[in-house]
Order: sequence, then C-alpha cells, then structure tokens
Amino acid sequence: MNPRTPAFPSKTPNMGTTIFTVMSALATETGAVNLGQGFPDFGCDPKLLEMVTQAMNEGLNQYPPMTGVAPLREAMSAKIQALYGRHYDPVSEITVTAGATQAILTVILAIVHPGDEVIVLEPCYDSYVPNIELAGGVVVRVPLTPGTFRPDFDKIQAAITPRTRAILINSPHNPSGMVWTREEMLRLQDILDPTDVLLISDEVYEHMVYAPNRHWSAAQFDGLAARAFIVSSFGKTYHVTGWKIGTVAAPASMSAEFRKIHQFNVFTVNTPMQHGLARYMADPRPYLELPAFYQHKRDLFREGLASTRFRLLPGEGTYFQCVDISGLSVPEKDLGEAEFCKWLTTEIGVAAIPLSAFYGDGFDQQVIRFCFAKKDETLKLALQRLARL
Ligand code: PMP
Ligand code: GLN
Repeated sequence: MNPRTPAFPSKTPNMGTTIFTVMSALATETGAVNLGQGFPDFGCDPKLLEMVTQAMNEGLNQYPPMTGVAPLREAMSAKIQALYGRHYDPVSEITVTAGATQAILTVILAIVHPGDEVIVLEPCYDSYVPNIELAGGVVVRVPLTPGTFRPDFDKIQAAITPRTRAILINSPHNPSGMVWTREEMLRLQDILDPTDVLLISDEVYEHMVYAPNRHWSAAQFDGLAARAFIVSSFGKTYHVTGWKIGTVAAPASMSAEFRKIHQFNVFTVNTPMQHGLARYMADPRPYLELPAFYQHKRDLFREGLASTRFRLLPGEGTYFQCVDISGLSVPEKDLGEAEFCKWLTTEIGVAAIPLSAFYGDGFDQQVIRFCFAKKDETLKLALQRLARL
C-alpha cells in the first residue's frame, strides 16, 4: 500500500487568508492591543446569556425549522416594521442565517449564474469578491469616491450592462464608516428602476450610526425593497460576533430562491440562540441605545487621536475609525499600508487593518482602519501607545 494524499488543482489558487485572521494572529503573537479585526473586547448583556441558557435548559436543542424559529422571524419582522415601516412576512420573507457572511454567500449562490456581472463598490468587505467568483460570476468593481468614500452614481450607472445580475451595497460602510444619505438611496432607486438588477444590501451596522446621520434601510424605499436581499447580523448589534446569527429579509419569490440554497448550505442555525435572541428582542432598548454607547467610544478615540499626526477621516457610522497616515513623521509610513500595519502591531503595540485589503488591486492610499469596539481602558492603552506617533 502506498497511502498518499492525491494532488488536485486548487479551485482558488489566488485566494489567501483573510486579513482579519492574519492581523489578529499577529496581535496575539506580539501582545499588541488588537484594534484590527472588528469585534468587541467586552461581554454582552448577561440577560441575553440567561435567555439563551434558559432556552437550552428548556430542551430547545434539536433542529429548528429550516427557515429559523418562528419567534425570531416574527421578532425581526416586527422590528423592521417599527423601524423602517415595511411589512416582511415572517413565514415567507425572513430567513435566519449563520451570520451575514453565510447570508451573503448564499444570496450570491442563489442568484448568480456563470458569467453574470455583479457590481461591488470598492473598498468592500473582503468576502464579497471571492463569493462572486465562487459562483462563477464576473466582479465589476466601481470605486467609491476617493477621500470621502461616497457612492459615485455616474460610475455606478456606467457599470450597469444587460449582464448585470446584482449590485452589493453596504451602509453603514465597512471600512470607511460612511453612511448613505436618503438622497443617495433615492438616487440608487432611480438608477435601478428601469433594470432587472437585484440589490444585496449589507446593513449589519444599521444600529451604529451617529447623529446627525441616520440609517436608511433599503426596506424604506419601495423600488429598492422590491428587489433587495437585506442582510442583518445579531453579532454586531448584541456584542456576540462569535455566535454567527443573522437574517435575510427579501420579497417572497426572492426568499424562496434563497432558501433552496440555504437548506443545502447550512440547513439550519443553532436553536437555543435563536430562541434566546427572540426573547431578548422583546425589549428594543439594547439596539436603540447602541448609537449612544458607541458614540462615546468613537469620541473618546477620536479625541485621543486628535493630538497625533494621524489625520482622522469622518466617522458617521460602524465601529471603525479610518485614519490617514501620510502626515506621520516616521519613515515606516511609506512602507505601504499593509507593512505599516505590521510595523504598528509589532513595534508600537497596536494592530490595525490596511484599507488596501478591501480593494481587488490592493490600492494603497495611506489609510488604515482601527476598530473602537473596545473597553475604554483598552482604547486608552492604545491611544497611549499611538501618542508616540
Ligand atoms: N458584512 C460586513 C460589512 C461586515 O463588516 C461583516 C463583519 N464581519 C460581515 C458582513 C459578516 O458578519 P457576520 O459576522 O454576521 O458573518
Ligand atoms: N467584520 C469584521 C471586520 O471587518 C471581522 C470579520 C472577520 O473576521 N471576517 O473586521
């Protein structure tokens, strides 16, 4: 016998390891304060833990319905109705997913035929492009306006062809923190109106928007909602990124196609957490109070950085703060964003994410992203270290 692992051609020869894994590993190895990967370093509300534990103790531990447990779909439907004024039928229009990452991949697998074009607005979250490629789609990259990261509608319009199957948008935006205005959503609605282009609206940071800005959901616009898969994630809203639970809301015919793939992708999502979340959602305060909670952290972090040579970019939403590094006096600022972030982690003791990781061609504009979803003491320690710059 000659036991050997057969060689096989990689399906994804150019796919590396996600930057979030790389930078978190480096932060752990070097003992740096990890402001790279987006996740809180504080716990969630103990009440939520109690509710999940209670669901487990009640024996709610077997497969739930394929579309998610009814109370959670109903709670999501009620929340969307209350916040955005649109009714999504919990039976046929809301599906519980294993987080937004699975939701987006499943949407793309459900709608993209080989050769279909899908528009992404760069910089964009790093799973979008590999997802489209896995589905055999053609990625059409449209840059957000350099400097402001606002959507450029002339460029979006010009990118639409008869082969465009979908456009992916993300507001509040990771990595820039930019939040689409009502006028921008209306503009997109006008552009899409005469087309058959579907919309994937990644709204995972919907509850992290700072006054005077506000979140505009695709659900609030008739013309967008009629063609939209709206993606949400409980991980962001309730400080439980490791739980990996989210939802997709979409018109019934679109949800039906989504569910065909969902059932053979994950089939279902863990039961007790769905029940716990559904019960916890009876009280809207946790998500209504989230902007104030994070605005305090954003302001603390921005004020701390104001005395450094980092130039702050606007922070309208999300738990990310981008900074321009071109004014720093250290020579390492010219190493390129990725090398600079490694240097910052190993030598200064603060991990960050290079914006180039959100561009297909690695576009480098000397901007890096920090995550401020951290205890105040963690932010203060990071600021102390960054003060050296
Ligand atoms: N979309 C964006 C824009 C994100 O920042 C994230 C965060 N990781 C996700 C999707 C994925 O969310 P989840 O952890 O629920 O899979
Ligand atoms: N969304 C988070 C971020 O942008 C992390 C997600 C991940 O680790 N894949 O940092």
